Amino acid sequence: MSKALEQVLGQEVDKRRTFAIISHPDAGKTTLTEKLLLFGGAIRLAGSVKARKASKHATSDWMEIEKQRGISVTSSVMQFDYNGHRINILDTPGHQDFSEDTYRTLTAADSAVMLIDVAKGVEAQTIKLFQVCAKRGIPIFTFINKLDREGRSPFELMEEIEQVLGIRSVPMNWPIGMGRELCGVYDRMNDQVELFQGDDHTTIQLKKVDGYEDPVIREMAGDFLHDQLCQDLELLDVAGDPFDLEKVKRGELTPVFFGSAVNNFGVQTFLENFLKLAPKPEPRRSTEGLVEPTNEKFSGYVFKIQANMNPAHRDRIAFLRIVSGKFERGMTVKHVRAGKEIKLSQPQQFLAQDRDIVSEAYPGDIIGLFDPGIFRIGDSLSQGSEIVFDELPTFSPEIFAKVTVKNALKHKQYQKGIDQLTEEGTIQVFTTVGFEDTLLGVVGQLQFEVFEYRMKGEYGVDVQLQRMPFQFARWIIADKIDPSKFRINSTLVKDKKGNYVALFENEYAMRTAMEKNPDAKFQEMAP
Ligand code: GDP
Repeated sequence: MSKALEQVLGQEVDKRRTFAIISHPDAGKTTLTEKLLLFGGAIRLAGSVKARKASKHATSDWMEIEKQRGISVTSSVMQFDYNGHRINILDTPGHQDFSEDTYRTLTAADSAVMLIDVAKGVEAQTIKLFQVCAKRGIPIFTFINKLDREGRSPFELMEEIEQVLGIRSVPMNWPIGMGRELCGVYDRMNDQVELFQGDDHTTIQLKKVDGYEDPVIREMAGDFLHDQLCQDLELLDVAGDPFDLEKVKRGELTPVFFGSAVNNFGVQTFLENFLKLAPKPEPRRSTEGLVEPTNEKFSGYVFKIQANMNPAHRDRIAFLRIVSGKFERGMTVKHVRAGKEIKLSQPQQFLAQDRDIVSEAYPGDIIGLFDPGIFRIGDSLSQGSEIVFDELPTFSPEIFAKVTVKNALKHKQYQKGIDQLTEEGTIQVFTTVGFEDTLLGVVGQLQFEVFEYRMKGEYGVDVQLQRMPFQFARWIIADKIDPSKFRINSTLVKDKKGNYVALFENEYAMRTAMEKNPDAKFQEMAP
């Protein structure tokens, strides 16, 4: 490798951080994202994040459904610079109706920020997203938000994180008061206090102190709050987990930060600590072993395909995570699955939903490739090699519907639509064994609406969806499968590749089937 390229790659990789924010709707993800972007001076982007929520007619509304509901169906990528770092935030849809896409986006992140509402604690969607991150073993940082409101005690929240999510936590800072009493946080790592001033909690003052017992804190916070702080921190020093970067890197310990996104309180110190501790772009596993980001040959994989961001065009955008090497506009790379060389001439980077043409990008960056229908989820692109990255996981759908075409003459278009929409990876198709009915499985209800809408809009097919009572899907691995053992509150289907999958109405039915089929393996993900 040329010395110059080696050096540039090393520097570019070192300064990058690519992460996703995981949270339950309303925890404050949009607010936090906006504040982070503002620190980077990326004001235009911050505006567009806000616009996505505020205006139902913002450019981000790429589909009627979004306009009607005023929500964002798709996830996007935002990039900004701060203190010599280049930061990529992968946005995951915050609405309850998220999709398999949301999960898959997490595979493109090197770490995650888990945002928790101080009053609500660990909520349903956070648990799901956390589990996907935990499976990959990526570092998870926790931001406990809305400290300006009356919330639960920090100890209680830490206990919940451990009990519900199974991860130990280490507070990096600690609130001095809470809700109306809140006057600041004590930064345990840097021995300083960060103070709120005034009723509107806007002015922030940083003050170096000599440990948490420093009388300066007592002067500022008063006897009551300072006593409380000393008590809490003594307890933490004695009984809490010590900070251990190796454990953080393995995803066994989560550093916890307290703050208030809307008041911009604790956000900057969080960002600075996060940038110090979070991993730079990590290598990825492939058929050629671990691919290091500093490998001079460009490579990457498609983790998401999105249709119709611009309703005026029927194009799709394939989102590519760069794994190694340097990307340059116009470069020719190998599309490994298709066995073809292709020229990457119209790459785009996603600044909220504004598309900008990008001419250079590095490992950790996400670029959008114009896709006339040549990409599938998981496709590898590479310069001069046949690298195939480890397959992206298929997540177990949780909601099912039987689909029929209203007009039988439209069957061909219907089939084409199903094929393309499954390629984009937001719906899974199953065929019932024996009856040959078509079932769709999704992770979020919204995907059914999107499916219906697009089948009509793009393929001219009216479909009818009938909800099925199943809640769980398990891929069955066995030498011999007897369909009669999957009849009670369950059914046996095949996926697109012909693998057997059992669908269950409840956990009891699933356990019964497991007992009846002791030799079979029940997998949550496709083999
Ligand atoms: P998202 O659904 O997770 O993206 O949440 P938003 O960022 O839209 O925030 C949901 C609501 O919580 C909004 O009304 C925010 O203004 C509010 N919010 C966000 N951060 C804070 C905070 O630190 N304190 C308080 N009191 N409200 C907040």
